[in-house]
Amino acid sequence: MAWPYRADQLRRALRSRAEDAIAQRLGVPPPLFLTSSDASVTARPGRAVPGPGRSLLPMADTQPLTPREAFEMLLDGNQRFVAGVPEHPNQDAARRTEIVPAQNPFAVLFGCYSRLAAEIIFDRGLGDLFVVRTAGHVAGPEVLGSIEYGVSVLGAPLVVVLGHDACGAVAATRSAVEDGTPAGGYVRDVIERVTPSVLAARAAGRTEDADFIAEHIRHTVGLLLDRSRVLAQAVEAGQAAVVGLSYRLADGTARLVTAHGLEVPAHAVS
Ligand SMILES: [Zn+2]
Repeated sequence: MAWPYRADQLRRALRSRAEDAIAQRLGVPPPLFLTSSDASVTARPGRAVPGPGRSLLPMADTQPLTPREAFEMLLDGNQRFVAGVPEHPNQDAARRTEIVPAQNPFAVLFGCYSRLAAEIIFDRGLGDLFVVRTAGHVAGPEVLGSIEYGVSVLGAPLVVVLGHDACGAVAATRSAVEDGTPAGGYVRDVIERVTPSVLAARAAGRTEDADFIAEHIRHTVGLLLDRSRVLAQAVEAGQAAVVGLSYRLADGTARLVTAHGLEVPAHAVS
């Protein structure tokens, strides 16, 4: 199956009037904001006009063009949050107005609840992240559809699965598997979807919480790529990357667990 949108369709869907305004002010043609790596897959998400005092150049907080740039932008924000020096970008009234006509998030963030708020821990603002959250980042059809929407319609070049230590969903699943602790209602559905990760970690002889969390993150990334052809093709085409990050509640760091469509040094993967 081909990438579901032709270049011109994506261009129309993704390039906002604000991007044209940037192009005009920079004196460059709009294609600056599109990748030219493949004629069949072109559009990149744009960021709208920077607010007062911000650079118009495609710097870290203006315009990610590649999955790598989006990833670095996300990690930069996390480092600011960890260091206690957040910049709170795109949280003002100007940004609020700017994103009314269109949204161009630079990342889809698929994460668990609730002690990690995406825009806070990555120090971003309005319209930057397309956030999808379920307990234990379990993915059913609606979730897969939402993530695909973020990538194929909104043009986000990065999908992040965000797990965290001391995850209640993983702990409840371990209890269900190891002690037979029952779960009622639809919570059972969450636990059933986390169970393969817990079983895999146990089969590998893991005992530490961090190992179970990492296994579940890897499993979720694998599931997204396995179930979603749209996502797999976007990664194959170099249009998007799918990465798994593990967030530590105590210090606020997000560590790389796995990456697809993004070359990272081996030592960067924990
Ligand atoms: Zn959790």
